[in-house]
Parts: sequence; C-alpha cells; structure tokens
Amino acid sequence: LSQRLDVVNPRDEIGRLAETFNTTLARLENSFNRTRRFSADVSHELRTPLTILRGEIEVGLKWAKEPEEFRELMQSNLEEVHRMSGIIESLLELSRAEEKGLSLNLQEVDLRELLNDLIQQLRTMADEKGIHLEFAGALPVLVQGDRVRLHQVFLNLLGNALKYTESGGQVRLFLETENGYAKVGVSDTGQGIPADDISCIFDRFYRVDKARNRAHGGSGLGLSLVKSYTEAHGGRIEVASEVGKGSTFTVYLPIADGLPAGDSGEVDKP
Ligand code: ADP
Repeated sequence: LSQRLDVVNPRDEIGRLAETFNTTLARLENSFNRTRRFSADVSHELRTPLTILRGEIEVGLKWAKEPEEFRELMQSNLEEVHRMSGIIESLLELSRAEEKGLSLNLQEVDLRELLNDLIQQLRTMADEKGIHLEFAGALPVLVQGDRVRLHQVFLNLLGNALKYTESGGQVRLFLETENGYAKVGVSDTGQGIPADDISCIFDRFYRVDKARNRAHGGSGLGLSLVKSYTEAHGGRIEVASEVGKGSTFTVYLPIADGLPAGDSGEVDKP
C-alpha cells in the first residue's frame, strides 16, 4: 500500500490523475493504520482485566479455603467485569455516534441545575483530595438536551479535572451564555497537557501518560465520549492548557429557540 505513482508532469492530465491517486492512497493508508491501531488498543484494554480475572479465579480455585477469601476474590472479579462492561458500553456509544445512530432523549434541561447537582455529587471527592471546587453560574440556562448524556459530559470533564489536579489545587466550573450558546467551562490548576498531545486527547484510548493513567483507573475513552455527545447536541468543545499550570475545557451548546438564555434573555443567532 505504501507504493506511489511517480508524477512526471504535475500539470498534464496523467500527472493530475497520479496525484489524485497518491492522495487517495495516503488517506486509505491512514485509515487502515487507525483501524489497526484501534483493534490493537481494544484487545490490549480488554486483555488486562481478563488477565487479572483469570489469575484471581485460578488463585481462588487452587488456594482459597475460607469463605471470606472467596468473597474478596469475587469482589475484585466483579470490579474487573464492571471495567470491561464500561469499555464495551463506551465503544458501542462511540460507534453509534459515528454512524449517527445515537438516539438522544431530548428534553428541556436547565444546565445550572444539572451542574449544581454534579457539584454536590463530587464535593466529597474534592474535599478528600484537598481540592477547592467551585461553581460560578448565577442564572438558569435552558437547552434542549439529553439529560443523561449531558450529565456524562460534565461528569467526565470534572472527574478529569479532579483526577489530574494535585491536592491544594482548584477546580472551577462556570456557566455563561455567548452568541446563542450556553458556555460551560471546567478549569483546573492541575498538571496540564503538553501541546503535542492536545490534538490527540479526544482519540479513543489516548492517554498522555500511559503508565500513570492506568493506575488512575481511566480507560482513555472519556474525552472521546465527551466530544461525541457534545457534537450530537450540535455543540463543540475547546481546550486550552499549559503544562504545570492547568487546563480549561469549554463546551458550547446551542440554546434552543424560545428558551430563556440566562443573563441577556435574548440570544443572537450563531
Ligand atoms: P482517561 O480515562 O485516561 O482520563 P480521557 O479520555 O478522559 O481518558 O482523557 C484522555 C487523556 O487526556 C488523559 O489520559 C489525560 O492524559 C489527559 N487529560 C484529560 N483531562 C485532563 C486534565 N484536566 N488535565 C490534564 N490532563 C488531562
């Protein structure tokens, strides 16, 4: 596949044809490579929990005697099974979104309420880690959205912000409106993302620091889902980050016609 046609004269018809052929071939090659890498990644991600499961079942059958030992092993087995189910569920969601088959359960959602609930949910985790968590969003902002998926979007972003920020740091969530869009930002004072990695972090299974993040329990699918769900709502996501200083992820979601837009009450058409 890596062979190319020689372009003798790029201006004549044969030359142009050869160039088109070469470009198409390069695209195909790219797509094959991505598919190959994806299959390797899926296999790898599922093999790790399977290896743990197999080891524990073998230990249980061979060595465990007391009911308590069995219980502990079963508990750990269950965690690995949950992990695998989570990976498969996320992959199914991503492929549905790619084939435009994601059916959103649309309803009127007040983002302020949704984000407030999330903050309550994550407060204990932030306190335990010694991270100052705050929410700035004074007014309701209504969008047409799938409550469950939107909850997942902001849970993943806040979860990451807490995960990649050290004790003593800050995580700030804000909700505003801008040109007909609800603008939700998740800002942290954490480790930041190197410039070279930023364009890849939304790829499936991509992690900046492979070894460390596996220990954190992440699958590398969170941000892929965040992006897919946001785009399925007609929105977009932006990220700004600096190593050692922190990151800000900003999600823009269109405010539906006829719904109040919070501060201005009027919205410009995007
Ligand atoms: P994971 O399950 O590994 O967290 P994600 O898809 O959510 O996977 O994120 C992909 C990678 O992007 C992470 O492994 C991490 O390296 C990086 N990342 C995401 N959010 C942040 C953040 N707030 N600060 C620093 N790095 C981040």
